[in-house]
Amino acid sequence: MQFRDLQRQYKALKVEMDSAIQRVVSSAHFIMGEEVASLEHRLSEYVGVKNCVACANGTDALRLTMMLSQIGEGDAVFVPDFTFYATAEVVLAHGATPIFVDVEEHTFNMDVVDLERKIAEVTAQGNLRPKAIMAVDLFGLPANFRDISLLADRQKLLLIEDAAQGFGGTLNEQRACSFGAMSATSFFPAKPLGCYGDGGAFFTNDDELAQKARSIIQHGKGSNKYENVRVGLNSRLDSLQAAVLHVKLDAFDKELESCQKMANMYDTLLSDIVKTPQVPSEFLSSWAQYTIRLEDKNQRDMLKLQLADRDIPSMIYYPIPLRRQPVFAHLHQDSCPTASRLSDTVLSLPMHPYLTSEEVHHVANTIREALTTSRK
Ligand SMILES: *Cc1c(COP(=O)(O)O)cnc(C)c1O
Repeated sequence: MQFRDLQRQYKALKVEMDSAIQRVVSSAHFIMGEEVASLEHRLSEYVGVKNCVACANGTDALRLTMMLSQIGEGDAVFVPDFTFYATAEVVLAHGATPIFVDVEEHTFNMDVVDLERKIAEVTAQGNLRPKAIMAVDLFGLPANFRDISLLADRQKLLLIEDAAQGFGGTLNEQRACSFGAMSATSFFPAKPLGCYGDGGAFFTNDDELAQKARSIIQHGKGSNKYENVRVGLNSRLDSLQAAVLHVKLDAFDKELESCQKMANMYDTLLSDIVKTPQVPSEFLSSWAQYTIRLEDKNQRDMLKLQLADRDIPSMIYYPIPLRRQPVFAHLHQDSCPTASRLSDTVLSLPMHPYLTSEEVHHVANTIREALTTSRK
């Protein structure tokens, strides 16, 4: 069994995929061009945001948000403590200071109460300027943007959405990648909408920001490729990746439905024995991960080994809360107890649209067996 079975997905989409790839190879137009322009158009329509700028990966899309808001030394950016490293890496890379905010135990997403507390602390200390909130749609579930947006408005903070895992998730029928003043997503192969290599996209309703983003990803170009008006990046999306994404986007809504079905099945089979992931009302997850919580680290680590013994892959996202990463040790931040507990107790199970119900039953039965024998 695969954790995320991309071969099965390719088999299901093979005819369309082979022809899309062939189309690019025959055209010999390999960077950006019509494939990318039409993809950007489709993505912005899908998400409901005026502008989409495709780029080389999700981390660069996040870097664009830092560059465009001129975030730098002396600025505080509030990030969840429980996420993939890139969220805070880009903050540090631009000379600003990430302030780690605890997360909610049941959704894994940024806790707005702790966010408000951390903003007040930074303001009271007076060393850093509170500048932006970077909320993450972890495991496919949009962050609590209802409350976070209000708080950002009230505190006059820029709201950035790291939707690298969130594409396809919704809150009140509004889609992920539309909640930030600027939002970033990733098309890394294992993300909900993945390509066959690296890819990413930046979203904003602000035309001027979008125009600057388009310049930045092409070496800070001006009115043409050989006029350079700013320091930029080389962060273009390949036409091949865009062609792959066109096919994946055609299949995407059906895939989301399938993931939802698999998640419901896991819920039914597991909720009496482990803590299953909670999706609050009015939210939908795109199920980048299906993540259960165990009683303690011992039980989690043992279960992971027992699953591996039976050829069932599982992953620990994330074993170290960000503030405990060596790269952030100099910041001496240490008040995110929930993130620490989650790092010890979470386990992500196989989840993708091409799982079968037999496989879900097999995983669930194996977990039940492992946990009931270990209790004796
Ligand atoms: C994957 C990921 C990124 C980075 O995306 P890449 O395309 O791999 O650069 C950033 N933030 C989060 C939360 C992610 O999961």
